[in-house]
Amino acid sequence: MSLIVKSLTKRFTARETPAVADVSFAAPAGGITTLLGPSGSGKSTVLRVVAGLEQPDSGQVLFGDEDVTHLPAQHRGLGFVFQSYALFKHMTVRKNIAFGLGVRKTPKEQSRRKVDELLALVQLDGLGERYPAELSGGQRQRVAFARALAIEPKMLLLDEPFGALDAQVRVELRDWLRRFHDEHHLTTLLVTHDQEEAMEVSDHIVVMHEGRVAQAGTVREVYDRPATPFVAGFVGGANVLRGQMVDGRVNVGASLAVSVPNGTSAPDGAAVNAYVRPHDVTLTKADADTPEISAARVERMAWIGGYVKLSLKLSDGAPMTVEMPKSEIEALGINEGDLVMANLREAKVFVEDYSI
Ligand code: ADP
Ligand code: MG
Repeated sequence: MSLIVKSLTKRFTARETPAVADVSFAAPAGGITTLLGPSGSGKSTVLRVVAGLEQPDSGQVLFGDEDVTHLPAQHRGLGFVFQSYALFKHMTVRKNIAFGLGVRKTPKEQSRRKVDELLALVQLDGLGERYPAELSGGQRQRVAFARALAIEPKMLLLDEPFGALDAQVRVELRDWLRRFHDEHHLTTLLVTHDQEEAMEVSDHIVVMHEGRVAQAGTVREVYDRPATPFVAGFVGGANVLRGQMVDGRVNVGASLAVSVPNGTSAPDGAAVNAYVRPHDVTLTKADADTPEISAARVERMAWIGGYVKLSLKLSDGAPMTVEMPKSEIEALGINEGDLVMANLREAKVFVEDYSI
């Protein structure tokens, strides 16, 4: 079932700017759609309105073509998982998972079979008689998923569900979510501030900034064609280099130039900011013929698995982060302290006074 949010606005106080302002997006049926944005950008408020836990000041929430804006939460048929496990401490895992089934007066035998099925689904077979305190963080969060799925929800709403977990468990659980999703295709709305998590699990991303939708699209659209400087900087990370348009290219600093991708219209002479991804820079070693102004110094190198993260200082003093495959760095023989030349493969270019 698809979810459509139309022109949602929600204020918590009369004076301040709204927490959520004119938010519209569609979450296609059977996909994972992610609300991605920094803390305070309004993600949880949107999710809570979709859940029926908050009433909007204006706007609509549609499930398929049914308007559910005023339908009470308990009649929306949704499963929730939040960051804190919110399990019942005094109940066993089985009882926690069966909670929603009990509320719905599901017959005992049917409920028992359903819980067995869910325990297997979240890979907790054999742990049904434990109490939450006897489980690891990752296991507890899987109980929360099982409990949300027990009522066979029409849609799954997840608010930073991996937020409280260690890095490794986090990655395992989000891989599990993606695999679960690929088998069951349950329409899912995920909230996260973590862009890597969003890019890894989502089909669609809705980037939120200060209560508004900055951009909505597929993961690749948002990453490859950011609509605003905020999106360019927040999703994927980028060096922001000041430059000027000259003959349809951007001159960055005194020494670097990059072609402007199609569709960027900035007049010659315009001051622009070029957003350059760390992996869109390649380096060569400077030699005796390299003009001083074109040379950048390698200040630090961090060897991270298969790639190297280099912190450069450009000739005008501006910093730049570059990521290159370890094998290329080794082949070039680049070391800390070396002078190098940077070549920009690509940049997202925005006229400087662009504001959002
Ligand atoms: P996010 O989930 O992106 O971190 P929230 O939706 O929680 O953002 O919050 C958006 C804004 O609304 C924030 O400024 C927050 O302080 C405010 N806000 C959220 N919930 C309430 C509330 N119950 N009462 C007052 N202000 C709230
Ligand atoms: Mg939140």
